[in-house]
Amino acid sequence: MRGEAVAAARSTDLETFDVVVVGGGPAGATAATDLARGGRRVLLLDKPGRIKPCGGAIPPRLIRDFAIPDHLLVARIRSARMISPKDKRVDMPIGDGFVGMVDRADFDPWLRARAVEAGAVLRAASFRHVERDGEGPVVHYTADGFPRAARTRLVIGADGASSSVGRAEIPGHAAMRQVFAYHEIVRLPETGRHTVEATRCDVLYQGRLSPDFYAWVFPHGGTVSIGTGSARKGFSLRGAVRTLRAATGLEAAETVRREGAPLPLKPLRRWDNGRDVLLTGDAAGIVAPASGEGIYYAMLGGRLAAEAAQSFLATGRVQALGEARRRFMRLHGRIFLILRIMQGVWYRNDTLREHFVSICRDRDVQQLTWDSYMNKELVRARPVAHARIFFKDLAHLFRWVSP
Ligand SMILES: Cc1cc2nc3c(=O)[nH]c(=O)nc-3n(C[C@H](O)[C@H](O)[C@H](O)COP(=O)(O)OP(=O)(O)OC[C@H]3O[C@@H](n4cnc5c(N)ncnc54)[C@H](O)[C@@H]3O)c2cc1C
Repeated sequence: MRGEAVAAARSTDLETFDVVVVGGGPAGATAATDLARGGRRVLLLDKPGRIKPCGGAIPPRLIRDFAIPDHLLVARIRSARMISPKDKRVDMPIGDGFVGMVDRADFDPWLRARAVEAGAVLRAASFRHVERDGEGPVVHYTADGFPRAARTRLVIGADGASSSVGRAEIPGHAAMRQVFAYHEIVRLPETGRHTVEATRCDVLYQGRLSPDFYAWVFPHGGTVSIGTGSARKGFSLRGAVRTLRAATGLEAAETVRREGAPLPLKPLRRWDNGRDVLLTGDAAGIVAPASGEGIYYAMLGGRLAAEAAQSFLATGRVQALGEARRRFMRLHGRIFLILRIMQGVWYRNDTLREHFVSICRDRDVQQLTWDSYMNKELVRARPVAHARIFFKDLAHLFRWVSP
């Protein structure tokens, strides 16, 4: 079969593209859009039939940098409520601005349509494998039930955390560190009592809802995402969501979807194979530890992958592919490290979680949290506040103060 495919690939009627992008989520659709806008011939393959499970929270930086129109925002969030194991509640108002909420059933198709508008060829298709002959890589995929192939110079793997491209092409991909996240999309009833507020996200740090991550209630206009995550084998995510739905007053409300997916926790050491494949988005492991935020990083990753691809295509230098990871880590490696340490320290048990939520009462902590989430920059201008937070963290960590 493979021999036949390679023979077919040698034939002159094989479609040829500068880049084949596998996966049309936020990462792949952004890479395809940027490359097509830059004049490249792009084939975008996306497996149809599944809405990406996602809370849908996006920061203003994403809305600005990637020109997301208002009509895709199903809610605007003005505050977060942190809830401790002992049910203590700390509200963190955003101040100016808002966190946007998108529904991935509409957001992802819109991003793919933008790629097509820019000139990419979109195909509902499933990636199978890459083969190489003397002329370079040939991507094999299935579309409409038929095997097909396309010749290219570069494959961008943006096919999510369980990336088939990554597993086949990048050593060590299968060992990527992940939590599993699960949520239910629930329709908000018009009558009846529940605790959901249209402009507030609830974030629950309680061992019974997640022993090593957090649980959430994110409003989406007429619906709400209620979910949790954990890397712990045997922990019942569905059971935890059932408990949380009951606590929210939405036990009996209509369930629109039940869905889950792995969430990477650490960027891979290598995103390219030193030859003709480059990973990005969840496939490269770029999700923020502690928060699980991935949409902004996937879109930025897609953009950096497109820029690295342009440089590779223009010069033929494979080293150019490594620029995507280097530039990403220069921008966000430090905050990922801080978040990883934070998760390792504060998410360990309920006593520490109680202290963590208590720290969130601090105005400086709130300001720095929102500044860095909203704009994706570590604010350096307030060294005194940083120092104060550091010493407060230590005091809580060593239990010199009670939560
Ligand atoms: C339950 C849950 C809640 C989350 N909540 C948030 C949140 O509120 N905010 C946030 O920022 N992040 C959140 N995330 C993370 C976020 O969803 C991801 O980080 C983000 O979607 C990554 O984008 P991506 O394009 O890299 O991958 P994906 O969005 O996973 O897209 C991959 C694409 O590849 C396609 N594909 C897969 N296999 C193939 C194949 N073989 N051939 C062709 N196409 C293929 C898929 O159909 C899909 O379209 C959440 C994740 C989960 C699981």
